[in-house]
Amino acid sequence: MTATTDHLNIQSDAPISTWFRIGGRADRLASPESREQLQQCLELDDQCLVLGEGANLLVDDTGVERLVVSMQTEGFKSVEIDPTTGLVFVGSGVALPRLITQTVNAGLTGLQGLAGFPATIGGACIMNAGGKFGTISDHLIEVHAMDRAGRMHGLKKSDIDFSYRHSGLNHLLICSAIFELQPADAATLKAELVECMNYKKDSQPMNEKSAGCAFKNPTLVESIEGIGEAGTRVSAGMLIDRAGCKGMTHHGASVSNLHANFITTTPDAKAHDVIELMNQVRSRVFDTFGITLDNEVVVWSRDQESIQ
Ligand SMILES: Cc1cc2nc3c(=O)[nH]c(=O)nc-3n(C[C@H](O)[C@H](O)[C@H](O)COP(=O)(O)OP(=O)(O)OC[C@H]3O[C@@H](n4cnc5c(N)ncnc54)[C@H](O)[C@@H]3O)c2cc1C
Repeated sequence: MTATTDHLNIQSDAPISTWFRIGGRADRLASPESREQLQQCLELDDQCLVLGEGANLLVDDTGVERLVVSMQTEGFKSVEIDPTTGLVFVGSGVALPRLITQTVNAGLTGLQGLAGFPATIGGACIMNAGGKFGTISDHLIEVHAMDRAGRMHGLKKSDIDFSYRHSGLNHLLICSAIFELQPADAATLKAELVECMNYKKDSQPMNEKSAGCAFKNPTLVESIEGIGEAGTRVSAGMLIDRAGCKGMTHHGASVSNLHANFITTTPDAKAHDVIELMNQVRSRVFDTFGITLDNEVVVWSRDQESIQ
């Protein structure tokens, strides 16, 4: 069922589209087309949950009661590229792969190292997404975001607490971002883009249903022989692999044989299967190394009290 509040589109009992392709529904899902409509969403529920591509998201089987706000609307998909200054103004609902193609075609370097994973610009900024070839914050200069009282803020990169898979922006609703890129040879950039995509395809199960890495790479509190020195960040995938978890399954959820930090799902899987398997993996890694893995994947549930 669809209802409108001053033209704000709200669907009842709506599916929440995620890359796992499983999980529960939203009691109400809003699709704002403007900042004014985003403010209306906040008037309905100031603790609303913001949805990008759902590429880092697991929704519990019972769905969510909080208003879900999808930013993948035309109103948040504008892209303006100035090839002379290298400035790129982009709406938070724009798909990162699309922006990468556009900037590479415009002969601008900076984003091509992020090729090969799904994200909206908003979701990528929140997660400070990235990998071997860089992160979204590397060339970001500004974010424009709404607070939960409906006020807009312009945040310079220096105002934001970016670190590994962290932005500290989760309490805000990201509306747009500005990047500063440098001119470069488009053919070289295309070759780099292909190299990144090939790296991803060879090392991660890109054709299966997942939310990317399930756990964050932990920083060692103390040195562990054969693993790393205290204070260093080590690969969660390596720990999961060495703890013997590759190939583990729980009903429709499996630990990928290609990359142990990816949990993949079959169409009949339940969100509960993923949560249970993640708990089993976390316990095994703790029992083997004494290290507690933190979730990278964001989990939404009906009894959720705070925004992750
Ligand atoms: C096959 C695959 C490979 C992947 N590889 C990588 C990788 O190499 N590196 C990496 O970092 N990640 C990777 N990921 C995870 C995912 O791509 C990133 O985390 C991505 O940034 C998620 O963006 P999203 O738009 O899908 O956000 P969502 O999953 O929709 O949301 C993630 C979080 O961001 C919040 N959010 C989203 N949009 C906004 C907004 N506009 N304002 C406020 N909050 C918002 C949500 O509320 C949620 O808390 C991979 C995922 C898949 C499926």
